[in-house]
Amino acid sequence: MSVGTVDTTRNYAKAMDREDELASFRKEFYLKDGAIYMDGNSLGLMSKRAEKSLTVAMDTWRNFGIDGWTEGDAPWFDYSERLGAMMAPLVGASAEEVIATGSTTTNIHQLAATFYKPEGKRAKIVADELTFPSDIYALQSQLRLHGLNPDEHLIRVPSRDGRTLDEEDLIAAMTDEVALVLLPSVLYRSGQLLDMARLSSAARERNIPIGFDLCHSIGAIPHELSQWDADFAVWCNYKYLNAGPGSVAGLFVNRRHFSKVPGLTGWFGSKKEVQFELDHQLTPAEDAGAYQIGTPHILSAAPLLGSLEMFREAEIGRLREKSLRLTRYLMDLVESELSGMGFAIGNPNEDYRRGGHVCLVHDEAVRICKALKDNAVVPDFRAPDVIRLAPISLYTSFEDVWDMVQRLKVIMEEKQYERYEKKRGVVA
Ligand SMILES: *Cc1c(COP(=O)(O)O)cnc(C)c1O
Repeated sequence: MSVGTVDTTRNYAKAMDREDELASFRKEFYLKDGAIYMDGNSLGLMSKRAEKSLTVAMDTWRNFGIDGWTEGDAPWFDYSERLGAMMAPLVGASAEEVIATGSTTTNIHQLAATFYKPEGKRAKIVADELTFPSDIYALQSQLRLHGLNPDEHLIRVPSRDGRTLDEEDLIAAMTDEVALVLLPSVLYRSGQLLDMARLSSAARERNIPIGFDLCHSIGAIPHELSQWDADFAVWCNYKYLNAGPGSVAGLFVNRRHFSKVPGLTGWFGSKKEVQFELDHQLTPAEDAGAYQIGTPHILSAAPLLGSLEMFREAEIGRLREKSLRLTRYLMDLVESELSGMGFAIGNPNEDYRRGGHVCLVHDEAVRICKALKDNAVVPDFRAPDVIRLAPISLYTSFEDVWDMVQRLKVIMEEKQYERYEKKRGVVA
């Protein structure tokens, strides 16, 4: 690591921006003048292209009514499949293995209902103690639906340091009593990136289906789900993919499983050619489309279409490369500009173990976040002591990172945070 060697001048940041081949995407987003948005890992910013594709969906409704299902610039009948094909390169899968549908949590329900088949003593589910609560709530209720007690049957693999997970521990938990594994790609608090290739192959060797929650890696990091031979994955599209609040989510099902009947069925999981025969015997689609349930939420899916065009042009490999440079630069500036001010870096340092955000730890994290907001920086607080900062490759500049650290430095020097109450907001 380059502690002490980073160039801390604004000119250096400007020079990095001039060399940045992705810099032109910034003008496609609605950024507020003078404000620095570091919360794109919670809710990505709106882009002109996402706005455009939503407008197209509204125009189709206005101009075609019911015929919008088959007419207009982007007909609705195969909208989810089209989005699936556009998301496939981001997860390293083929188009048929990916579909836009549901929300992350409902998709966990769908895939747990499909892949969790307790039999005899093989009845436990492996998750971890640091994952997002909604994932745990979904697994707990799936266990209850099978008449099992989550306290006994849900294994939450502990963290050794309270921030990260050790792949050794996760693999050790994959015993012959385990019927399903669900793990995050990137931990939402610390930003640790797990070794999904290794975890997938360990699960395969033990014949345990494994799925990943990619909420904090989709759009930030390349994936190779087919190559890793993972069984399934879920993700949301409103974080790094910038598709808007509550936008329709995505899922991946490995083609090995295309003959399975989904755990939760509905008419939009039908094979398209026969869906409108309206037979009471379901003929499921022979691809990931089978995991849809009801009518696609077109208006919540539409912004994703425009947004994904940008990802196709920018390419995920280049986005990841820039993201690693942005987060490295941010960590270097924290170490050189904010030393002795009580900050610690809570994310792993190595590139191959880091997601798209920096986890800054400070005892005064709540109040520092409030002071940052009043200094036109939008951070993200996670209890009890984490400030998440996510510079986004498509729209954050190196100069933004530089400016943000300078504002933070002034906040700390002037102890501005002492003016605020030590209490988190309702959404934090
Ligand atoms: C953001 C996030 C969710 C959100 O789930 P929704 O169903 O979209 O509300 C779930 N899991 C993880 C790990 C997340 O980061």
